Amino acid sequence: EHNSQKLSLFYESGVYSFDDSNAVFVDSVRVLNRFYHRFSVSPSVYYSRFFKTQTTPNAVSSTVTPSLRKRKRRESRPLNERELIALQRHQEARPLLLAAHECLLKSAEVLNALKTLKSESSCSTKECDGGQRSFVDLGHVAPHLEVTLSLRVSDNDADPHPLPKDLDDFPGGQCCVQKVVRAFNNLVANDTQDDAVAEILSNSYVMPRESCFYMSDLGQIRNLIPAHADSGFNLIMVDPPWENASAHQKSRYQTLPNRYFLSLPIKQLTHTEGALVALWVTNREKLRCFIERELFPAWGVSYAATFYWLKVKENGSLICDLDLFHHRPYECLILGYSPGKVNNTDNLSEFKPVKNDRVIMSIPGDYSRKPQIADLLLEHVPGPKPPRCIELFAREILAGWVAWGNEPLYFQDSKYFVKK
Ligand code: SAM
Repeated sequence: EHNSQKLSLFYESGVYSFDDSNAVFVDSVRVLNRFYHRFSVSPSVYYSRFFKTQTTPNAVSSTVTPSLRKRKRRESRPLNERELIALQRHQEARPLLLAAHECLLKSAEVLNALKTLKSESSCSTKECDGGQRSFVDLGHVAPHLEVTLSLRVSDNDADPHPLPKDLDDFPGGQCCVQKVVRAFNNLVANDTQDDAVAEILSNSYVMPRESCFYMSDLGQIRNLIPAHADSGFNLIMVDPPWENASAHQKSRYQTLPNRYFLSLPIKQLTHTEGALVALWVTNREKLRCFIERELFPAWGVSYAATFYWLKVKENGSLICDLDLFHHRPYECLILGYSPGKVNNTDNLSEFKPVKNDRVIMSIPGDYSRKPQIADLLLEHVPGPKPPRCIELFAREILAGWVAWGNEPLYFQDSKYFVKK
């Protein structure tokens, strides 16, 4: 009974919390689909790597072998000081990660739910690589380009209920309002309670309800600083384009040297009642040192906890050996608090400061795409409810959030969605 309740909660929310544990399993597709009314993300598109893996097993072994070889070569010499610190960090996290993974392996209901991902997919393995229009290039050559927003406005602005689906005549339907605004260096908002479609140069992008994007280079980020501190943000998620040796990564998006991140206006984006800052970091020890010693101090953020994203395959096994030295099956989300200007006063809601490390398990999506974990952070966010949330260096847009980056529409491309 208890388990079947938890399972139905998982189907509704996309999040499964294991009993007596700090571990959760997240199905990002289910989380995302809560944001949409007339569109849905199909598991075969989101988890395309895993769907491809199934059909071409050779591709897997060819990606795994070189890193194993590299590891052997490197392991023949003693570890340097930084590598020793990294190893120690790994050893500390190991019991937590193993215990979490054990919960998943013991949970027949979650493992069974993962098996059904394939049959739930409404289309076969859709090829989503390539053909992506580069917003970065477009922003340079056509900075005045416009976006046409098709919004479905309900009669009553305050009406929380979206229009019934059968009225749909989208795009260009009768109940649709069109707005033409600048696509770059401009806050583009879908302030309706329904999905909206944004068109740029005959490509369509889906925007979830009550969401905004600001598409620009880092140089324009200060335009997002609110005029009044009480309209600042309570949750600031950052996934920087850290420099990385991988050639694969280089072909996906441009990276920036660490010093650029020091000037991110975290303080100025923070709400008067403070903000929880969540920072994704790769497994390079150099980065961890940089964050602890330079970045968080420069931002005025105090460290609170580390969450681990443990990557698993559809059968529940880890995507690679936990102890591979230069290739870990997990990434870290470093959490800290940016203080506000006022101490908690009247209208303030309670929040539980995040203290403990947690493990989030999920099947990875596209290259560098992070799992949907905002639900797990909400209780730890200071300030008014619902909190005001912003994602920096975003490649997708979440309902209720502001997404900033030089390609925030990347995963909103209609090719990633199926029309319901
Ligand atoms: N969190 C994202 C996700 O889950 O898909 C991935 C973000 S990725 C690590 C970093 C992003 O920063 C890329 O989309 C990249 O294009 C963007 N970026 C790189 N240089 C930038 C710059 N100078 N200004 C704005 N965005 C930039």
